[in-house]
Amino acid sequence: MDDGRREIAGGGLFVRDNVIEQVGLTADLPQTADTILDLTDHVVLPGLVNTHHHMYQTLTRALVQESDLFTWLKTLYPIWANLRDEAIYISTLTALAELALSGCTTSSDHLYIYPNDCTLDSQIRAAAEIGVRFHAARGSMSLGESQGGLPPDRVTEDEAFILKDSQRLIEQYHDPSRHAMLRVVLAPCSPFSVTPDLMRQSAELARAYGVRMHTHLAETLDEEEFCLESFGQRPVPYIESLGWTGEDVWHAHCVHMSQPEIDLFARTQTGVAHCPSSNMILASGIAPVVAWRRAGVPVGLGVDGSASNDGNDLLGEARLAMLLQKVAPARYLSQGSGGRGGFAGDAEAMSARQALELATRGGAAVLGRDDIGYLAPGMSADFIAVNLNRLRYAGAHDPVAAMVYCQTQGIDLSVINGRIVVQDGRLATLEIEPVFRRHHEIALSMIRGEA
Ligand SMILES: [Zn+2]
Repeated sequence: MDDGRREIAGGGLFVRDNVIEQVGLTADLPQTADTILDLTDHVVLPGLVNTHHHMYQTLTRALVQESDLFTWLKTLYPIWANLRDEAIYISTLTALAELALSGCTTSSDHLYIYPNDCTLDSQIRAAAEIGVRFHAARGSMSLGESQGGLPPDRVTEDEAFILKDSQRLIEQYHDPSRHAMLRVVLAPCSPFSVTPDLMRQSAELARAYGVRMHTHLAETLDEEEFCLESFGQRPVPYIESLGWTGEDVWHAHCVHMSQPEIDLFARTQTGVAHCPSSNMILASGIAPVVAWRRAGVPVGLGVDGSASNDGNDLLGEARLAMLLQKVAPARYLSQGSGGRGGFAGDAEAMSARQALELATRGGAAVLGRDDIGYLAPGMSADFIAVNLNRLRYAGAHDPVAAMVYCQTQGIDLSVINGRIVVQDGRLATLEIEPVFRRHHEIALSMIRGEA
């Protein structure tokens, strides 16, 4: 995934501390090292980057089914109101463990609901324990039902407090340095759950500190209708009027965009997190990924929250991204989405390598990182390896494409910032069984309404 998209048979990496020093033929690398990982018969890839998630939703998987976004949200908000800080911590460990085992080495999480004693700090602690590079997005909701918003008032927060807490988190945790393991992002939840004022003030605060901005946008036609009714504008012009375009911004979903809106994102280098599983489960639509790429919009992949996926499998998401573009009606490929049309796919719409690119350097660009996403000297030592001696790869002629086509399930090795996080297909940094037993207890108590 380097600039030349090189694929090196018999290749290797030489890493010192947390940084890649050399990439090339194994025979040309230094022959001694403190630790030697023999990855014969493995495919080695840059670590995958997840650009959109709500990890607390692992507690409500496979719960609300066959619902569109607004119905799904309104059913889940009262259950999420029972979240406590321990639930945030345990669900983050669970989601990140699952992500790491699927090849993810960097993840963002968009935590926008803070009932009871919930904090973002607990998520940050969990990410450090698992060892995954983390972009913690301080989300927020302030527009309750009584003011015309979608969420019940009791899961919203006071805007002055949101801004104060956002500032505290940036000052306490944000690390702008190269190879940073932790960055903070400001992320009001969506047009239908925060006020225009909070969007504007969050942008000002983010830019004053040089942190990135993230939100949900143009996810469904219901949202488009909400924006037209409430603000007299479609989602993209609305968000643009609040200062939410630019190379320091990325939006989740963006399923419903016109070609001029796509061109605006390309011109301003506004990024997008594409979440194919979620878009299919909630029947939101097919995002115009091919049109984005053609226009030059930065695109990464996201698994999205675990109540609308309901898994944390980033390589699986790359596969779905590829397949969905192949069957997308032609209009998505030529002019962005919108309107109703006939149905004709395009087998060449996306290749396995392009899907892997979205999952690696695409996601890195969306998160504003120039130190991860591909393997080259000077880059962070984030890489994964998959053993080809598996039943599922028998007869596969192209080992790189096989990572996507042959439904890779779990990777064998993951190194993040020079530290082994997954070894022999198991998490090396934490004993996960007690975590997911506790996770299940908490999930049940939330359904019973025990906050
Ligand atoms: Zn989301």
